[in-house]
Amino acid sequence: MNYKILLYILLSIACSEMSFAQSNDLFIPRNVQKALTDKTRSLDGKPGSNYWQNRSDYVMDIAFDPATRLLKGKEKITYFNNSPDTLRDIYVHLYPNFFKKGIARDFSINLKDEGDGVEIEKITYQGKVLSNESGKHQISYNGTLAILKLESPLLPKTKAELTFDWNYVLCKAGGVRTGTIDSTSFFVAYFFPHIAVYDDIDGWNDFQYTGGVEFYNDFSNFDVSITVPKNYTVHASGELLNPSDVLSQKYVKRYKEALISDKIINIIDSNDIAGKDITTQNDKNTWKYKAVNITDFAFGLSDHYLWDGSGLVVNKSTGRRVFIDAVYNKNSKDYYQVAKTARDEINYMSNVLPGYPFPFPKETVFNGVGGMEYPMMVNDSSVPDSDMVGLAAHEISHSYFPFFMGINESKHAWMDEGWAAYIDYMTASALYNIQLIKNSRVAQYKKAIGTDADVPIIVDSRYLKSPV
Ligand SMILES: [Zn+2]
Repeated sequence: MNYKILLYILLSIACSEMSFAQSNDLFIPRNVQKALTDKTRSLDGKPGSNYWQNRSDYVMDIAFDPATRLLKGKEKITYFNNSPDTLRDIYVHLYPNFFKKGIARDFSINLKDEGDGVEIEKITYQGKVLSNESGKHQISYNGTLAILKLESPLLPKTKAELTFDWNYVLCKAGGVRTGTIDSTSFFVAYFFPHIAVYDDIDGWNDFQYTGGVEFYNDFSNFDVSITVPKNYTVHASGELLNPSDVLSQKYVKRYKEALISDKIINIIDSNDIAGKDITTQNDKNTWKYKAVNITDFAFGLSDHYLWDGSGLVVNKSTGRRVFIDAVYNKNSKDYYQVAKTARDEINYMSNVLPGYPFPFPKETVFNGVGGMEYPMMVNDSSVPDSDMVGLAAHEISHSYFPFFMGINESKHAWMDEGWAAYIDYMTASALYNIQLIKNSRVAQYKKAIGTDADVPIIVDSRYLKSPV
């Protein structure tokens, strides 16, 4: 179980600190002390006997119009309150408000990416529309959060049905971790109203998303339908449920061949694009993706990207196979090797470091902007070949940390970035004898060594700022 492994490792690290702290009467933060007293956590690193996590089932119908970049969603959430607490409000992240004009951010962005933020058309809770009209104050908005005030509280061990109808315009330039790649290629992430984590340490994790610090989400199930015009292929977190509905027969055949092939299959090659017959020729196609027990959902789409893939057995005792693919612009020369590189790296991670079979059924490396990880997806710029080896290894290794472990990145970035930096270095050196990452990282750190900027590595991420 994910959470058990998570707690074991996190608390193994933390418990030596805490044991030391206790034996010397040193300070234990009172929110952690409360979790110990309540037996949701324990000093030996195992989950406490009263440990719990909340979770959700998300069913989403998404429509995206590449011409206007308008993204519309209808979302149904079943939220399970497994906590012993009665919830009188629900906090919801509206991450796209990061791009809203006038909002606070940790760094400046391309002004072309600014917009009006998320328009919430309707929210329901337990079948009733929430409203601020007629003297009611059931929804309040604060930056990248919406707070729902519940007239009928959500009792312990019960569930809530919520729906959200929403829309916003995807940012025009490269964005930050999401946005437009070229006029007909996009990466869409942090795009839907996402219930914040309510946990035993902090209650509602009501942090604002200001760009510098990353994310923390419950393990949830996602059932997502994405409707786009014909000729666009959609690649998402999760497994594609309906290839035969959205791809024409020739490409369904290649896709299915790739799923079980140990060799890289060119599902879409550079000669195929001009034919305009890759997808089903309805005006619009609805791509259906499903994922179980993941912390977030993202997707990329393009009408001219190439697509390579293969299957890899990651667990020899069960024969479990992972689909590993690369989706990219034909001009990205480094990307022609990425399906193979990613396959080699996932093989290394499954068998050597961390030496645990890759924990998801697929992994897509999508040719986007920057370098960022999402469950079952990576969004990487095109970079020189040797750098791509390290970049892909870094972002793919985040599949373990934070995604498999469920790390609270909003507080403990040192855990997931520390592990990812270690694994990418070890993977790139072992497979390709590439040391570049080491040189660049050491060069960066050298600036801070021994200065007052050289703070303890475990400092909470919210109180750190990268030197510009
Ligand atoms: Zn990273």
